[in-house]
Amino acid sequence: MCGHPGSQAVDHIHAVSRGGAELDPDNLAPIHGVDGCPVCLRKCNNDKGNRPLSEVLRLVTSRDWYAGP
Ligand SMILES: [Zn+2]
Ligand SMILES: [Zn+2]
Repeated sequence: MCGHPGSQAVDHIHAVSRGGAELDPDNLAPIHGVDGCPVCLRKCNNDKGNRPLSEVLRLVTSRDWYAGP
């Protein structure tokens, strides 16, 4: 999601809770999971939640990097 390599988790492009196909390879994409991104340290999967990627990217460009609680 952040564009860096090193993803360890699988993301559903269309969230299953929104009707996406859970096991369709076309609906799966690598994403940074609980270990976070080795480059920018974001936990992209946590940030994304079940929103569509396009929606998240719009949000990301409209705010600074998430810096913690
Ligand atoms: Zn990432
Ligand atoms: Zn990153």
